[in-house]
Amino acid sequence: MIGVTVLGATGSIGGSTLDVLARHKDQYHVVALTAHRNVKSMLKLCNDFQPEYAVMALPDEAEKLEVHLKKCRGETKVLAGVEGLEYVSSLDQTDCVVAGIVGAAGLLPALAAARSGKRILLANKEALVMSGRLFMNEVKKYSAELLPIDSEHNAIFQCLPSDFSDGLNANGVRRILLTASGGPFRKTSLDKLKNVTPAQACAHPNWSMGRKISVDSATMMNKGLEVIEACWLFDAEPEQIQVVVHPQSVIHSMVEYLDGSVLAQLGSPDMRTPIAHALSWPKRIDAGVQPLNLFDIATLDFESPDFVRFPCLKLAFDTAKRGGTSSTILNAANEVAVQAFLDEQLSFIGIAKVNQTVLDELSYHEASTLDVILSDDKIARELANDVIKKLSH
Ligand code: NAD
Ligand code: MG
Repeated sequence: MIGVTVLGATGSIGGSTLDVLARHKDQYHVVALTAHRNVKSMLKLCNDFQPEYAVMALPDEAEKLEVHLKKCRGETKVLAGVEGLEYVSSLDQTDCVVAGIVGAAGLLPALAAARSGKRILLANKEALVMSGRLFMNEVKKYSAELLPIDSEHNAIFQCLPSDFSDGLNANGVRRILLTASGGPFRKTSLDKLKNVTPAQACAHPNWSMGRKISVDSATMMNKGLEVIEACWLFDAEPEQIQVVVHPQSVIHSMVEYLDGSVLAQLGSPDMRTPIAHALSWPKRIDAGVQPLNLFDIATLDFESPDFVRFPCLKLAFDTAKRGGTSSTILNAANEVAVQAFLDEQLSFIGIAKVNQTVLDELSYHEASTLDVILSDDKIARELANDVIKKLSH
């Protein structure tokens, strides 16, 4: 039996993961589930999956969960806070950690999993974006296995040779073609983007996801974060990554080789495919996903990205080139700006303004230690909040 800890079990990635695990109860055992504050959802998951541990990020919520679990005589032990998240990411009986927390909150538990040599299924791209080199070094140092479940990166992983540790060039790779749906505002004019609402931004045409990544998809910051994610995962230069807008989201990304071959991974847009792939890799298991019907799809379209309407994508390429903590700063500013947009304190186009201003005003550092990374993350959040206040007056 393979022991699995699901970080962010109540979220969209968490739900897709648990759906796959439930199909293969003979092979996978749920060791631990974690959530931020949703006691009701966690209680249901504990009853369904009977994990050894449940962690609530907030202590009051952990207490509430414990009381409820006692009432139904559950045997799940309840833990709280970051320490709890780190603990269940490093347990001996956990072989595999699904990093499905959204945002910077997922960094410490993901690092704990790396330092315990686990197989990490990485959805939480913000963790890698903010700590790139440090995270990759820890994975190597502790012989952890980092498998991407972000659909594009999982596709790229599937299109690369099984061992690409000696680099893209040595393996004859010329470019990575990172596909993007273009989000809900692919065809919206700059003028109309000024007035779009959180509900419109969260209505993604192809994927059903958490609210933060949905807004990131609408600004195309998600693709920007994915460019940075790909640079770290595949040891690629930003110049080796071409973003290709592909509205059908059927091709999940491609790898172009020196001889002109382009390998693509296709499938229905359903996160259970990359999750099942990474869970069972190098084997394959059923994911419950609808087979792709090419006759229904009929046409695949491709467009080049528009950096004018989607300036966040450009900002991400810039920080990928700059290196150091510049991506940490961008990620932190963006998390604050997206939350302000969702809270209706900032306009949609304000998100890019905040990100740009914070990047312009702060100097970045070599991202050598966790202290430096967390300090720049904090400073960027504070400045982003100030900029938002000024913009709203
Ligand atoms: P979501 O909002 O649906 O779920 C987030 C999960 O994280 C929830 O379980 C929540 O309880 C937990 N969480 C939130 N804040 C927390 C905190 N401070 N401490 C501890 N736990 C916290 O988000 P999602 O769509 O599942 O996305 C999760 C991650 O996966 C993101 O980084 C996203 O970019 C990435 N991702 C998601 C998808 C997708 O299809 N949803 C695809 C690719 C990548
Ligand atoms: Mg993605």
